[in-house]
Amino acid sequence: SPDNVNVIHLKRMVYPKPETLKPPRTNVLSVSPWLAPIVWEGNFNIDILNELFRQENVRIGLTVFAIKKYIRFLKTFIETAEKFFMVGYPVNYYIFTDLVSNVTNFNMTVGPRKQLIFLEVPSYKRWQDVTMRRMQMIRDFTKQRFASEVDYLVCVDVDMRFQDHVGVEILSDVFGTLHPAFFVKGRDKFTFERRPESQAYIPEDEGDFYYAGGYFGGKVEEVYKLTNHCHHAMLTDKANNIEAIWHDESYLNNYFLYYKKPTKILSPEYLWNERDGTAFYLRKRRLISLHKNADEVRN
Ligand code: UDP
Ligand code: MN
Repeated sequence: SPDNVNVIHLKRMVYPKPETLKPPRTNVLSVSPWLAPIVWEGNFNIDILNELFRQENVRIGLTVFAIKKYIRFLKTFIETAEKFFMVGYPVNYYIFTDLVSNVTNFNMTVGPRKQLIFLEVPSYKRWQDVTMRRMQMIRDFTKQRFASEVDYLVCVDVDMRFQDHVGVEILSDVFGTLHPAFFVKGRDKFTFERRPESQAYIPEDEGDFYYAGGYFGGKVEEVYKLTNHCHHAMLTDKANNIEAIWHDESYLNNYFLYYKKPTKILSPEYLWNERDGTAFYLRKRRLISLHKNADEVRN
């Protein structure tokens, strides 16, 4: 092979031919107007994707924040991730917490090539600041250590339970996730920041999708750009005495609209609310957002 070119050779694989006139999914949108795939069960062959990503020796970091009372969600989160998240791949679980000694005695054990890494970070009084400051903290650790330890980062909320496969099909330069409460709704129902004074502002006649703040990721370098941008937007707003309506989620939606459209979009299979039962177009419910008493757990 030519010098300095990394040639990969896929093994022989036998699988059904993709049928140009028979799309596997007909009742859901499978591609965005800028040609980013929307990931739904049926649209991908995991064996092919595994073959591709294994050639890259891909390493994945899963970031999660368990601050103050939210440490109560951590055990289930990790235990279910062990069963369903990136099975067979090296995974670093990066657990940001305000008191490491509170969580290291959970006696959580993880499988081969999986690592629990606890990162002690400051806590904030207001829950809004706890969720918003995740951007800053992810950004800071991206430069400090993630860049040398993993190839991709997956950044999620902790109040969740995995209950079906989540694998390399989600990986791409930058990915966002359709918020389960908004993907069938019109733009006028999206809860974007509507005040023009805010850095998160999106007018009524713009917006592609409403993305969830609790599930994004991509290559480490792209996550750096995303989190750095969102953190600066928040600081600018703070200096002007304004806070976007849905905090980090609002800045993220602005970023995905105006700065970097996601190169892959995760369907609501990847983020579904516990209380919403199921829906005909959902063949899998992979990650479930747990019902919680928000007032109690945030205060
Ligand atoms: N969080 C935390 N401690 C707090 C508040 C929030 O660790 O006191 C983190 C936690 O990871 C949580 C995320 O911030 O999942 C987002 O907050 P929350 O889940 O309450 O937001 P929601 O999903 O209800 O919009
Ligand atoms: Mn949450």
